Amino acid sequence: MSEDINKNKQNEVSESATIKSERSSSGDQKESKKASADNTKQIVIDFERVTKQYPGEIKAVDNISFKIGIGEFVSLVGPSGAGKSTLIRMLTREELPSSGRIYVAGRDITTLLPRDLPYYRRKVGIIFQDFKLLPKKTVFENIAFALEVAGVDNASINERVAKITEIVGLTKRIKAMSEELSGGEKQRVSIARALVHNPKILIADEPTGNLDPVTTWEIIELLFKINRQGTIVLLATHDKEVVDALQRRVITMRDGKIVGDAQHGKYIL
Ligand code: ADP
Repeated sequence: MSEDINKNKQNEVSESATIKSERSSSGDQKESKKASADNTKQIVIDFERVTKQYPGEIKAVDNISFKIGIGEFVSLVGPSGAGKSTLIRMLTREELPSSGRIYVAGRDITTLLPRDLPYYRRKVGIIFQDFKLLPKKTVFENIAFALEVAGVDNASINERVAKITEIVGLTKRIKAMSEELSGGEKQRVSIARALVHNPKILIADEPTGNLDPVTTWEIIELLFKINRQGTIVLLATHDKEVVDALQRRVITMRDGKIVGDAQHGKYIL
């Protein structure tokens, strides 16, 4: 494993990551206090007794509670069917829990209105195993798209895309078509796209599933770099080698429940 990862300190957080509630109504302030009251490290993600039951008997997520604080890098592991994707879909508000509360930066996201969702989702970037890039578009266009949709002006788009492309190490490939890229480069584009709105949280859902071991480590290094700059990283993965080498917090799920939560964990099924 590279020195860079070893040197990384868990609480190395840039000031820019200070979480501020976007709203200042008294209700939201109350929620903010609640979320930070019981921990010295500022809590950003707080699942409280969350259950998701799909029609039928199966509880995909079964009464789980956990908190993730500012600056953390957390692996989420567990066998297929354990409930990891359901948990992620609730965090991105693609699904609502059947019961329980989910606070993100002090706001209960289960009560967000449809009109709030685009703003909320800008604060939660996500990347996938299959990259989900726009075909027939360049690296620049793939990254710029997320900003265009948000109504950002062209000058700001150019500036932001240049900066984020540099962070992910793709400046020289900015004009390349997405289908010409290697797997590692594609994942870098998808990371850049996930970061354009400067999210508080980056969810990586099996990000290295399609990559060879060397490229896998390059992408993990990049996730560490982003984490060091203040973004929480939640890494759902089946890659035992990666999880064991990370020496970071590991939350293990099975049958919808959290069966392990270790600060310097290993991948144990
Ligand atoms: P994982 O991501 O850990 O593989 P999932 O969250 O996909 O687990 O699934 C957890 C359980 O919930 C499984 O039993 C799965 O079949 C069930 N499940 C997931 N999504 C749905 C759905 N949309 N409708 C019904 N059951 C679902």
